[in-house]
Amino acid sequence: MEILRDTRPTLEIRNPSKPCARNGVHAASKIDFCSLCKQHAIFPHASGTIINLATVLGCSLQYIYPRVDPSTYPIHSEPRSRPSQQDIDSSSMHTDNFATNAVHAGSAPDPSTGAVIPSISLSTTYRQDSIGVHKGFEYSRSANPNRNDFETMLASLEVGSEEAIAFSSGSAATAAAAQWACLSEEEGGGRTAEDIADGGKSHILCINDMYGGTYRYLARVAKTTGNLEASFLDFDQVGEAGIRSAIRRNTKRKQIVWIESPTNPMLILPPLTLISEILHSIPEAHRPILLVDNTFLSPYYSNPLTLGADVALHSISKYINGHSDVIMGALVIRKGSAQRLSQGFRFLQNSSGGIPSPFDCYLASRGAKTLPLRALKHGLNALQISTALSKDSRIAKVSYPGLKSSPYYERAVGALSRQAKKDLSKLGWDTRALEARAGIINGTIKHHRPHHFSGNATTVDAITEQGIPFSGMISIHLASPDPSDPEVSHAITDKFLTSLRLFSLAESLGGVESLAEAPWQMTHGSIPEAQRLALGIDPSLVRLSVGIEDVDDLLQDIHQALDVAFS
Ligand SMILES: *Cc1c(COP(=O)(O)O)cnc(C)c1O
Repeated sequence: MEILRDTRPTLEIRNPSKPCARNGVHAASKIDFCSLCKQHAIFPHASGTIINLATVLGCSLQYIYPRVDPSTYPIHSEPRSRPSQQDIDSSSMHTDNFATNAVHAGSAPDPSTGAVIPSISLSTTYRQDSIGVHKGFEYSRSANPNRNDFETMLASLEVGSEEAIAFSSGSAATAAAAQWACLSEEEGGGRTAEDIADGGKSHILCINDMYGGTYRYLARVAKTTGNLEASFLDFDQVGEAGIRSAIRRNTKRKQIVWIESPTNPMLILPPLTLISEILHSIPEAHRPILLVDNTFLSPYYSNPLTLGADVALHSISKYINGHSDVIMGALVIRKGSAQRLSQGFRFLQNSSGGIPSPFDCYLASRGAKTLPLRALKHGLNALQISTALSKDSRIAKVSYPGLKSSPYYERAVGALSRQAKKDLSKLGWDTRALEARAGIINGTIKHHRPHHFSGNATTVDAITEQGIPFSGMISIHLASPDPSDPEVSHAITDKFLTSLRLFSLAESLGGVESLAEAPWQMTHGSIPEAQRLALGIDPSLVRLSVGIEDVDDLLQDIHQALDVAFS
């Protein structure tokens, strides 16, 4: 297996004494490569570890273990059907880019049939050659080929990651991450023996404006476990001292700092770089882990694991699947912190059973192949629509972090992934000037934007006059003739939402079709009223999930519905 020898020589000699199942005895514990053939990985059941390796090596899963009985292959020939860059130049360290990974990672042709798309593996159980000797799969709750494929693909898209773990929903991923804080270190969790002995509660410090279901779980369900507390902080407003004082320093590794960026539904970008710097200034043994819910941006627009986060949470139900026909979630773990977190997350998942079905994994893998195309179009449409709406007097406020007029514009530019910048630059955005404007100079992120912008402002402004595409979510406050009367606002919002022709009045987001909803009563109805109002979630608020339809049709639809609502 040339790839392994060329790129990670340490991998194959980690435990050279154990021959693989192919050549005799099967290793019983951790993953290793066969000492005789140097090709086959030895994998009792740690599918996560296999994925780590596949991701790290940039090779497809099937190079590590063939889907079909390995005895059908000659020992030294490989079940690959496409020459890789490594075949052409074994010293090359080429790694494929985002759009290529979206299409190819976790989607290798099936070596037994040549099928270009992996088959859906519905079997719940897998025949073993002898006791404990199998091909990496025992029972489908613990591991399934389609789920592995999806996880491989997702890990390749979320840059900076080592491993992705797919769940039955974003909410199941949320529950596992929260439970992790209460799980003992022995089981891979966040609670040390000291923590358990002193009986202190594990603590999750959350951003105060978040997905309603996440709030519901953390505020109302998590505490029923008895040893978990959640508190909520306006990270955007409290400043550095406020953030530092909210992090409980007297605890060992049992805290999570839980961020959404942008927040839902107010689309606030918290100071992620600052939060990460504060956390990374805390000694490793006491440092809380940083979890960022990256659902709204998707790995296309931003990669929080490259910005200091330890875990990226996704509701796959949104942009990654992208077609409003799958409920699924994932936790994606940063390179380097994978072992501890992965053990705990997988243990919790296997124990509570929150796994996605093979069919959903297949659908979501198919959906994700077009993520880069869709995400860009969502963003271009949303930028154009938010620009138009910010000029309409019937809209009191437009929130879209990509708008140049947004207070979060600099943070949006600073959060952009390498892939998004590459695409924007091809479309004519001067991304280097944008970065300079956002205070990112030579890759060093500064908190304060420079006072003097030295780029060629005229040219840059002409091209990027409006701002940058930054996902498809826009929040607007409709201008009520009587803002003090919630009934009046409600009536206008209802009229507007029910007069839309192309935008469906529906919860959720991130699908190819445009959706519109009223967070006050719909997605965020489970948050106490006083808290909703304090956040700006009032009856005049409308959240738009801009789809990939023709933007002129969408604009026409919004304008005609506004005409009806304000007539
Ligand atoms: C939808 C969503 C979730 C929950 O995901 P489900 O797949 O619906 O369980 C979590 N976070 C955010 C930001 C979401 O939009």
